Amino acid sequence: MNGNPKANEPDVILVGAGIMSATLGTVLKELEPTLNIVLYETLHDCALESSEGWNNAGTGHAANCELNYTPQRKDGSVDISKALEVNTEFDISRQLWSFLVSKGAIPDPLAFIHPCPHMSFVWGNENVAFLRERYKEMSAHHCYHGMEYSEDHGEIAQWVPLVMEGRDKEQPVAATRMITGSDVDYGALTHLLVSHLQAQRGCSVHYKHKVIGLDRLHDGRWGVTVEDVETGERSTVSARFVFVGAGGGALELLEKSRIPEGHGYGGFPVHGIWLRCDVEKVSARHHAKVYGKAAHGSPPMSVPHLDTRIIGGKRSLLFGPYAGFSTKFLKHGSYTDLFRSIEFGNILPMLAVARDDWQLSEYLISQVLQTGAQQFATLKQFFPEAQRHDWREAVAGQRVQIIKPDAKHTGVLEFGTELVASADKSFVALLGASPGASTAAFIAVEVLEKCFNKELATAGWQDRLKTIIPTYGIDLKQDAAACRDIRAKTAAVLGLKNV
Ligand SMILES: Cc1cc2nc3c(=O)[nH]c(=O)nc-3n(C[C@H](O)[C@H](O)[C@H](O)COP(=O)(O)OP(=O)(O)OC[C@H]3O[C@@H](n4cnc5c(N)ncnc54)[C@H](O)[C@@H]3O)c2cc1C
Repeated sequence: MNGNPKANEPDVILVGAGIMSATLGTVLKELEPTLNIVLYETLHDCALESSEGWNNAGTGHAANCELNYTPQRKDGSVDISKALEVNTEFDISRQLWSFLVSKGAIPDPLAFIHPCPHMSFVWGNENVAFLRERYKEMSAHHCYHGMEYSEDHGEIAQWVPLVMEGRDKEQPVAATRMITGSDVDYGALTHLLVSHLQAQRGCSVHYKHKVIGLDRLHDGRWGVTVEDVETGERSTVSARFVFVGAGGGALELLEKSRIPEGHGYGGFPVHGIWLRCDVEKVSARHHAKVYGKAAHGSPPMSVPHLDTRIIGGKRSLLFGPYAGFSTKFLKHGSYTDLFRSIEFGNILPMLAVARDDWQLSEYLISQVLQTGAQQFATLKQFFPEAQRHDWREAVAGQRVQIIKPDAKHTGVLEFGTELVASADKSFVALLGASPGASTAAFIAVEVLEKCFNKELATAGWQDRLKTIIPTYGIDLKQDAAACRDIRAKTAAVLGLKNV
């Protein structure tokens, strides 16, 4: 792909200025500096939807603490294969960020990432037995080198005093801790990446510009129709490659593209609410992300957790999320989003999910009906001495879970992310939201492998990609020495703990 100098005929159009487009644009521009890239965003700035600091939990998801990635098998053993995938996907992000810090594109890693221990914490004999088994499996793998485990109230109190103060001394509890974890402000990171892109020749960012149409042109390019949301003026720009990183807006644009690969996809919005505490004397006493066990029937992203957050240099606490239901696909979206997304092609998969996933409906209804007092009681299970007046409610980002066609069940609900690409590799849309921002670099590499495989096979792209991601092509789950080495290097650059 060669750089195209015409302003209305860029090589690449990125739709949506969240972490995903910002990351893909950054990687593409590093690999091919001559590329012309245009980014369109409906809102007046980048990172105002899910990528904004407070709209997500900011976990540098390395599957250290999220119990939903390690299901228990029928025989009692724990399956850590999914956790290992997520764990090593995060290494790709660490490498990209380290590269950008080392070359000065990101002046200070503290602007977006801070060391923060990742802990799992459970109570009750059954859960303690599960965590013990999980620890046994995980600590035996080099990816989880340094994982600590305790059932001792005193020791856990040293790790997280607020979680243990006021707790029944007889309650069986267990915790694991990885001190190598991180808290990430993906909003700040998106701003840094977009500013870096904007400063480069051949890149332009257009805020308050909404993509409203996608049409295949006779020469194989995409005609992208854009509306200036202030003036209503419309224009069409053509590009050889389009990436739809529009978060909750991606499904609508996938439908508009009419690519056969997108047929039958639907979306189910899940709304999130946090409890947030900005009282310094409280937040100063908690330094960890503490993940518990999800309630029965709840979607994986509803696992409750008590987190340290560092946003704009200020330390706060976050607890949640409490799930809810809203028909909006974006926080700044419309209540008609869900209804407008229903098409002839996806109605059957959507109805099949409504029929089969009644546990999710039941869970969401119970969450919506929760009173403030009931929500606070859930927080007290993690932080027994929490004071109501120290906490306030905050609305999180909106997630759109994927409903995809399935031969056996007609339709299934997916909790991960999925790239849906056209057969000719000129168009790709990112659906779903989990694990999410932390794996943005891994997703960018997946886009390269899916849509830029010819370029990726050239020596130039290979060399440059290995400069950005030195372990590209190495399976860190298998190669313990490479894993140890790259973690030590990226920890040093990003200011994270290494063990
Ligand atoms: C409650 C919650 C907690 C989470 N916790 C974590 C976590 O701890 N760690 C983690 O890694 N991830 C987490 N995530 C997931 C993470 O936030 C998302 O995966 C990530 O931010 C998605 O980035 P994005 O760029 O795809 O979308 P977004 O950040 O939503 O950006 C999409 C952008 O596209 C724009 N757009 C939409 N339609 C159009 C259009 N037609 N034209 C132009 N622009 C358009 C929108 O305005 C928006 O700015 C969480 C998400 C939620 C909701």
